[in-house]
Amino acid sequence: MNESVNNRVLVKNLTLFFGIFLLFTDVFFLTIGIVYDMPLIRYLIYVKLVVNSTNIFLILKKHYLISTVIIYSVIMAMMVVGVIAMGTAPAFQIFAIGMLPCISHNGYLHKRILKKELPFLPTIIIHVLLYAGVYIYARFNEPLYDVPQSAVDILLIFNSAATFSIVILYAFFFHNIAISSEEKLEQMALIDNLTGIYNRHYLLAFIDHMEVEDPEERWIAILDIDDFKKVNDTYGHNCGDYILHEVAGLVKQICKNCIVCRWGGEEFIILSRKNECDMNILETLRVRISENRFTFEDDDIQITVTIGAVQYHKDLNNDSWISRADEKLYYGKSHGKNCVIM
Ligand code: GH3
Ligand code: MG
Ligand code: MG
Repeated sequence: MNESVNNRVLVKNLTLFFGIFLLFTDVFFLTIGIVYDMPLIRYLIYVKLVVNSTNIFLILKKHYLISTVIIYSVIMAMMVVGVIAMGTAPAFQIFAIGMLPCISHNGYLHKRILKKELPFLPTIIIHVLLYAGVYIYARFNEPLYDVPQSAVDILLIFNSAATFSIVILYAFFFHNIAISSEEKLEQMALIDNLTGIYNRHYLLAFIDHMEVEDPEERWIAILDIDDFKKVNDTYGHNCGDYILHEVAGLVKQICKNCIVCRWGGEEFIILSRKNECDMNILETLRVRISENRFTFEDDDIQITVTIGAVQYHKDLNNDSWISRADEKLYYGKSHGKNCVIM
């Protein structure tokens, strides 16, 4: 899956989760407001129910930025009203901590959607003032309602659990964004776009980090499509691309235990580290490719390949090892092509 598509799915799931989560909290707080007869809480929840339902609609319409602002505002309003109604004992104020990752998420959406930085300093100042404000209010004012200790306990547990869940979920979200972006970058750096197999960078890094035991059992081969220019000239570049893709598939399929990469243009490298693959597999590969019919649009195309292969020797470094294979390939090219030179 494409990285940005993948991240968009994560953004949608996270925002939708919070939208639905808010509706659940509405049901919970409405029950508390009714059972303990707190009209202020009830009125707030009626408003919240309307806002949160609209919010679900906005999320489904992909308005994630405005939705995140709504989620933030609704939870902060709940915090303020909760403290005014019941004081600091049920810990409504810790929702302010739960909203810190929401601010960060809003910053992410600002950057992705509006291509602008969220003004973090004013945002954090407002946030801290709200948080400090409710404490200062509670310091000088009695709660509106005198709720029993059992309700305080229930609310304390609910508010703590909700806050920790929000923080953990946001952390999980950013962790997933980071992983999917890293994977995509790795893939872009090491996988050839056209053929879907490893590229030259991967192979060079792989050879550099290969285990040193049994070096003599390794071999490397360079495969080059014969007269590929003619294929492009006769059938077009798209057909050439199609053949490159199909040849990569055949090489991977036949040399399945080897490392296969697109070395460049119409050249592929096959590397066997130990006794994973007999060198004679290269002759099988050459024959299979020459017998294969590549069907592109209305054309049936046959191609041949020339392969140069060398066993590793302790006197060779990685560069000279590949150069030796290249020399064999060019020997094959100048001696009639469609052959394997070992
Ligand atoms: P030889 O038998 O000596 O290898 O002849 P050749 O024509 O295959 O070799 P040459 O190196 O002269 O030409 C390779 C051609 O491969 C030239 C270039 O247009 C084509 N080629 C390189 N990369 C791509 C690609 O990604 N797509 C397509 N369609 N063609 C490519
Ligand atoms: Mg070539
Ligand atoms: Mg060629």
